[in-house]
Amino acid sequence: MEDLSDYSSEVVEFLPTQQLGKVCQMIEACVSTDPEPLNRDQSVETTLQSHTSTQTEVSTTQQCQVDEQKLAVWLRKIYPAVEEQLLKGPTPLNTGYDSFGNISDTESKIQTYQKITMEGLENSIGIAAWLSVHTNKAPILVVSTKAPHDDWCDHLQQTLKLFVPKRMPPGNFVIFSEVKSIPLKACLSVLSTNAYNKSVFAGSSMDGEIHIWLCRSVGRAGDSNVNAKATSVTHEIDEMCCATSQHSYAVALDWLTENRLLSFHENGAIISWAVGKELLFETDFQLKVQANTSNEITSAVCLSSNTFVVGVKDGSIFICTITSFSAMRKQMEIIPLRKHVFTISTLLKTTINGLRAVVSCDLSGQVHCHSITNMDVEAPDVIQIPLPFKNVIASSKDGNIIYSPGIDGSLECYNIQNGTHTIIDGVLSGKGNFITCSENGNWIITGLYVDDFQIFYVEH
Ligand SMILES: [Zn+2]
Repeated sequence: MEDLSDYSSEVVEFLPTQQLGKVCQMIEACVSTDPEPLNRDQSVETTLQSHTSTQTEVSTTQQCQVDEQKLAVWLRKIYPAVEEQLLKGPTPLNTGYDSFGNISDTESKIQTYQKITMEGLENSIGIAAWLSVHTNKAPILVVSTKAPHDDWCDHLQQTLKLFVPKRMPPGNFVIFSEVKSIPLKACLSVLSTNAYNKSVFAGSSMDGEIHIWLCRSVGRAGDSNVNAKATSVTHEIDEMCCATSQHSYAVALDWLTENRLLSFHENGAIISWAVGKELLFETDFQLKVQANTSNEITSAVCLSSNTFVVGVKDGSIFICTITSFSAMRKQMEIIPLRKHVFTISTLLKTTINGLRAVVSCDLSGQVHCHSITNMDVEAPDVIQIPLPFKNVIASSKDGNIIYSPGIDGSLECYNIQNGTHTIIDGVLSGKGNFITCSENGNWIITGLYVDDFQIFYVEH
């Protein structure tokens, strides 16, 4: 131990984050255990905090008897290697796709990434949701498939699959690996991630049930050792609660707040659900428009804690504000937005030039951008996506690019600003009918091409 106390080495300089000029004694760092940080950085957490009793056991090192002789021998043995490592300087940052820059989405590089294969011959429509970011900006993914339905769903052996992005050392490459498959009693019509807690997601099944699931990480998190992390953390999907809707299955689901879900139904019903230990019916509203106008909801998106936009079969779009959730005095204001000619297939919340906006798409592939910040001035953008019909779209994070699943696993990209149309080639076969983009704008999943989903990575 004395040897180490007297050791004085050349100071190896790293850029300090604080306390400029402070020189630490080597002995301190070598023989003591670093104290626990006072605060964990909550901003990087992706999972629900567990109760302390379920966390990794408390360290008991302070109560252990340390054999100082053995420790000194060990330290002497490892010190030359440690010093050698320190003299090499910090490890250079990996400049793989984890690079940052001031490149806008308009200059994004998009690459065909990974194929995910589902089984089942009858199923022809893909359905998926991106959950919380797990590693390297890659979120956890849940996927399922649904059969086309004219009537009652008798598909009793559907599954919901959980894919977790896993880092493949060396470098930053991630692979989405299936870690869980849970059985469903019917096809899912829609999935929706809780934007306020992305480990929680809702699904409506064709038998009229609304399910709330929690994707839970079990094991040690925050370990810097990639291999240890891969072996110690597992993921589970727990059903938190479930309820049956009085208005059949939902055509759209979205979250007004962390604990309030809206389900939208074909008959024009909009149900507000309180999400807690149980899923409780709160109030239902009816989309009542003029007598000769359709109220068959086909798409919806929530904008704030009491505002949402619905699209209907005849191409109309309404922005709705709930002014009272009370079952006794429920009240909802409805204002029309610019109408489409064909059925609304997709509504997206986005920002265009920094302003809040809603993008709508109809079955003919016509896209409208509606300014929400200033209701009096609607942006004049009307974009016609070239035929064949595009019935589903997603948008880039900055709202400048509209993505649509192309034929044979390709991705069609339309730049709203300059009108350029690019196609990222695919290697699958068939016509896509589903697309969703992760909230960070880095990942897109399209499907279903026969039995396959296609994942794309967007570098920006
Ligand atoms: Zn079905």
